[in-house]
Amino acid sequence: MLVGVALNGTDDLQESLAELAALADTAGSEVVGTVTQVRREIDPAYFIGRGKAEELARLCAEVRADLVIVDHELSPAQARNLENLLGVRVVDRTELILDIFAKRARTKQAMLQVELAQLQYQLPRLRRMWQHLSRLGGGIGTRGPGETQLEVDQRRAKKRIAELQRQLQEIQRQTSARVQTRKERNLFTVALVGYTNVGKSTLMNALTKAQVFVEDRLFATLDATTRVLVLPDGHKVLLTDTIGFIRNLPPHLIASFHATLEEVRTADLLLHVADASHPALDERIAVVERTLQEIGASGKPTILVLNKADQLPPDWDRQRFKRRYPNALLVSALTGEGLDELKERIYAEYARQRLVRLHAQLTLQAQEVVAFAFRHGTVRRLEYHETAIVLEAELERHLAERVQKQVAERGWGNATITPVQG
Ligand code: GDP
Ligand code: MG
Repeated sequence: MLVGVALNGTDDLQESLAELAALADTAGSEVVGTVTQVRREIDPAYFIGRGKAEELARLCAEVRADLVIVDHELSPAQARNLENLLGVRVVDRTELILDIFAKRARTKQAMLQVELAQLQYQLPRLRRMWQHLSRLGGGIGTRGPGETQLEVDQRRAKKRIAELQRQLQEIQRQTSARVQTRKERNLFTVALVGYTNVGKSTLMNALTKAQVFVEDRLFATLDATTRVLVLPDGHKVLLTDTIGFIRNLPPHLIASFHATLEEVRTADLLLHVADASHPALDERIAVVERTLQEIGASGKPTILVLNKADQLPPDWDRQRFKRRYPNALLVSALTGEGLDELKERIYAEYARQRLVRLHAQLTLQAQEVVAFAFRHGTVRRLEYHETAIVLEAELERHLAERVQKQVAERGWGNATITPVQG
């Protein structure tokens, strides 16, 4: 049984509940009904009103629901009170998402992150779990000398949390080292971000022809996966697939995915992927932008990629769209529509950030400069004259500067550097 509360007129309750139903389905539950309430403020004891809670209890008994999922974060006391009144287990949105995360985690890092988030969430709620046990008569004989079982458990949980944090810090250190190596090797990194289930992994596959785990489920990807993307002109950049964002992701949950999100924070370019065919498109774009802000990744160069173009209804208003998102690209990861243009846009951004044009008048001894330009850049002009070589090539700035220095040191003529565009 799903429960949603609209706290004010602007709350998009139906959309949020549809998503909660999809999450419940992903977690393996079957939704048998939905109860909603419009309130000015939440009830401190039951979250919903006392009368509504009693109605919910009758309904649960009637359809024999064995789980209530509330579309908000409950305080430990509210969850306890509701469970006592309803006589069935009550979980909130966060617990549901954590449960899905736990099932989906594949790498060590993801598993540790999920366990940490779960423990941090449970710690203030341990009392509630103990109450359950004592109701079953399990409280007898569980006390240690001078310490209640609850205290023992809290101590254990805290110890485990510290241990997980230590292990995660170690992984974080390694991730940072990896990111650092990339930076030193000057690899341009593009990160896919966006709401869950919009087609990020499919797009990654389509762009790199790699097989990344794709599934019509929420949160199929918990771990960052990185592949090489070959751009027009043969330049290579890195493309990183990431976890999907979702509304109302509690801050401590975001924090536990810190290491994964470092990929997003350190990327040179973000591809914000959205599902163009989704009715809540605008709102979801806003949720992702807010999340990017929360994790300290806003203000980065970003391309808005509107995916699933193949799924748009015929009467879909492309003009409104162009007005609203003038710089967005409409693509379909499934049919390949718009992907060449997307690669061009990635290339343009890469060129803008990284490439310069080298103009060189070289002596005939400078053959290896020409070879270098062919190997590491794009040669735009090459002329052999009787006593000189004229070369124009696009290169990454640090490489062009290296060439410039070499030419000057060896007396091989002269070389100047200008921006690629303009
Ligand atoms: P992610 O959660 O953002 O990584 O999304 P996935 O790549 O796992 O895709 C979620 C679902 O959307 C899958 O069922 C995909 O087949 C589907 N999908 C992805 N791209 C497209 C597209 O361009 N068109 C359509 N019709 N479906 C797509
Ligand atoms: Mg994915």
